[in-house]
Amino acid sequence: MGKEKKLYIGIDLGGTSVKVGLCDEQGSLLAVYEGPTEAEKRAEGVMQNIELYVRELVTREGCAWEQIAGVGAGIPGFLDISAGLVKASPNLGWKDVPVKEILEARLGKEVRIDNDANAAALGEVWSGAAAGIANVVCYTLGTGVGGGIVVKNTLCQGFNGMGGEIGHLNVVPAAEAIICGCGQKGCLETVSSATGIIYMAKEAVIRGEQTSLAHIREISAKDVLDEAKAGDRVALRIVDRAADYLGKSMALLSVVVNPQRFVVGGGVAKAGSFLLERIEGYFREYSLENAKANVDIVPAILGNNAGVVGAAGLHIFG
Ligand SMILES: [Zn+2]
Repeated sequence: MGKEKKLYIGIDLGGTSVKVGLCDEQGSLLAVYEGPTEAEKRAEGVMQNIELYVRELVTREGCAWEQIAGVGAGIPGFLDISAGLVKASPNLGWKDVPVKEILEARLGKEVRIDNDANAAALGEVWSGAAAGIANVVCYTLGTGVGGGIVVKNTLCQGFNGMGGEIGHLNVVPAAEAIICGCGQKGCLETVSSATGIIYMAKEAVIRGEQTSLAHIREISAKDVLDEAKAGDRVALRIVDRAADYLGKSMALLSVVVNPQRFVVGGGVAKAGSFLLERIEGYFREYSLENAKANVDIVPAILGNNAGVVGAAGLHIFG
């Protein structure tokens, strides 16, 4: 590898594993290294692991340490982004960990942090499904509904770092709303995440509805999507409801930030066009003509690498 090229390191910190990636200035992912988080070793032990993985990656790829122009980390939890502080991360069991300060001392490079969903969104904007597009909203449909909003090539982090927390848009009417992990009722993720889809499926089975889902021992979101594709009416109704609220949330966002493109990723989105076409149908139904004109909805393309790419990109889009 050329020794003159500027490179960026992205860190995707999860509860069980840490992925570290090396990107060039265009956001191409050149190499990754993955190792265990070992959260039981507490913050200092995890930081030691991260340093080890970063140095291992740089050495293995044969780059000079001086080529590393910056390091970024995507971290699950509530952060004080400008201070580089993790205020609370239930996944890691952390409270008030000054990640930026610790990693800068260990690596001798400027470190920027953001939450994992924002990092994943930025990855798609830098070199993924929304490359070259300045106004984008990204959804990650997994255990929860993660989001990231990019306006004029800048991540919308907001006053308390809560910008882009679209999984907690209150879209479900009170009469149908259930409690969300955040403590509020009626959040988008209570119906449109894997967790929400599984919940609705189990409820239908408990009510004794006629559905093929009743024969599945431990229902997953993929089961519900598969059964819906196969024509099961109850599964189809559940998927349709998840899509309805996603489309509604996009219609709301389209009159707030008016993105040119919505990117949808995460495990649930693996259902592909079956789900995306439904979401788009509802989006078109609910949104204003001028807010939806020439706006499209596309699948994410970076998959599990979006987080490391976007974390590295925090130095480009900061
Ligand atoms: Zn919520």
